[in-house]
Amino acid sequence: MTNLALRDALANARHRLDAALADAGRAPDGATLLAVSKTKPAAMIREAHALGQRDFGENYLQEALEKQEALADLDDIVWHFIGPLQSNKTRDVAEHFAWVHSLEREKIARRLDAQRPETLPPLNVCLQVNISDEPSKSGVSVADLPALAEAVLAMPNLRLRGLMAIPAPADDPAAQRRPFARLREALEDLRERFPEARLDALSMGMSGDLEAAVAEGATQVRLGTAIFGARDTSA
Ligand SMILES: *Cc1c(COP(=O)(O)O)cnc(C)c1O
Repeated sequence: MTNLALRDALANARHRLDAALADAGRAPDGATLLAVSKTKPAAMIREAHALGQRDFGENYLQEALEKQEALADLDDIVWHFIGPLQSNKTRDVAEHFAWVHSLEREKIARRLDAQRPETLPPLNVCLQVNISDEPSKSGVSVADLPALAEAVLAMPNLRLRGLMAIPAPADDPAAQRRPFARLREALEDLRERFPEARLDALSMGMSGDLEAAVAEGATQVRLGTAIFGARDTSA
């Protein structure tokens, strides 16, 4: 992808987000655009940064660490870890990211809390919810969500911000909105249970369903393909 193509794609993604917020009657700054750069080279992140993008999401730890090293001079990038998180990866995530969107187990949370360096602010976390209640999908069930939230809220080096979900793809807008509405309701329920917690994040919406997610209150949309183009899945 040429520089020009990235410029157009990023502008188009921002326009989609602005339009979706306006259509939903929401504030223009109601949601952040998170650029999902997995499988894409550091040079592309650098270009997107030069075009004003600051929040980047990565799924694969080793790949992310290499890019972070190559981009160490860009010290205002906000790195979000959005991929599956195993125990042996928690230390690097705790040390090198500002956000984790994919927290789904208390054991992982305890490790992140213990491993977060004291020199850094608390790690922002979203709990990933299996909003479709599909047994094979990752994420905590809605039923188990309050207990996990309560445990995480007690961890001093984690700051629970909200919820994240990756619903099964759907074509029509009404079907896309249903799982996002359930995630919003799950967040509203947590806010009632834990009024002191200041839960403000709904990480939902990707290239194919941004508008539906924003209509249901997304505060962070995670766009990969729409910004960086199709991913080479053979890599
Ligand atoms: C890859 C990925 C995205 C971006 O998906 P696109 O359809 O390319 O926009 C968003 N969120 C998560 C968790 C991802 O793994």
